[in-house]
Amino acid sequence: MMTLLHLPESMRAMVLEKPGQPLQLKNVPVPAPGPGQVLIKVIACGVCRTDLHILDGDLPPVMLPLIPGHEVIGEVAATGSEVTTLKYGDKIGVPWLAYTCGHCKYCAQGQENLCEHALFTGYTVNGGYAEYIVAWEKYCIVIPDIFTNQASAPLLCAGLIGYRSWRMIPEYAENIGIYGFGAAAHIITQIARYQSKSVYAFTKPGDGSSEAFALERGAIWAGSSLESPPIKLDAAIIFAPDGSLVPIALSHLDKGGAVICGGIHMSDIPMFPYKMLWQERMVRSVANLTREDGKLFFEIAPKIPVTTSVKYFPLSQANEALYALRSGELTGAAVLTF
Ligand SMILES: [Zn+2]
Ligand SMILES: [Zn+2]
Repeated sequence: MMTLLHLPESMRAMVLEKPGQPLQLKNVPVPAPGPGQVLIKVIACGVCRTDLHILDGDLPPVMLPLIPGHEVIGEVAATGSEVTTLKYGDKIGVPWLAYTCGHCKYCAQGQENLCEHALFTGYTVNGGYAEYIVAWEKYCIVIPDIFTNQASAPLLCAGLIGYRSWRMIPEYAENIGIYGFGAAAHIITQIARYQSKSVYAFTKPGDGSSEAFALERGAIWAGSSLESPPIKLDAAIIFAPDGSLVPIALSHLDKGGAVICGGIHMSDIPMFPYKMLWQERMVRSVANLTREDGKLFFEIAPKIPVTTSVKYFPLSQANEALYALRSGELTGAAVLTF
């Protein structure tokens, strides 16, 4: 292991011991980077809805105790053997996709997001709710200088997987509905405006502050998910984890339109008549991300340039940050700082 810093032996981390319980602030050993891995001093870690699904057990536990967090911005503090491109002091991002096998059917087809043996940051390997994290060099993202700050942490998931969802909409789509106006939506709306497309934002009934936030971030219309948009939509992206929104979104789609489900977990989708899907309408999900998504997102993001609306919480208040996300009181994203 190559290191130029005197590294501490232990670090503070927020640890999940059992789904359904709050995270515990613990002192744990600083991990050592293995072959091909780097040790990263965390600058900030975003709080994502997927973290709530992990905490609640909606996603089956794979590793316990677990340090969650997959929207990491940090600085390389040490490098393991076989590391070839990153060096001490590099500012990098660590996303949800931690590792893929490189040889299964999906990896071979350019669909590493579906890899049979993929590992995921903050879910099947420890994440960034800690002062240090190890990550495989090849899956770290070198981010443009303007985004190497705490406010940019949400770009690593809300940005990257939001952008993957965005790329799933048909190319001809001009009028796009977004259900659930949080971290991903407020980033994607900026991309939509940059590409001269129109966003119609749907929020929870009665959530006037999210409607105002959506309009402020560039949506041309905002209303409750029970309302009809003023025109037929060419596509809709659902970021809210609510399956009942799928037939609702379909009912507002024009012929040939697509509903994209952008989250990792959703409640059951109610039955709906085939005629709602007829005329080449589509429903599809988005799973994880590829390194290509990261590359494409960080090519377009500085041109806009994308900004984020964040609320900071110290690491020790991760439970409060998660609560704020769950309760819907946040506009934008929560970010843990160190
Ligand atoms: Zn996420
Ligand atoms: Zn694979």
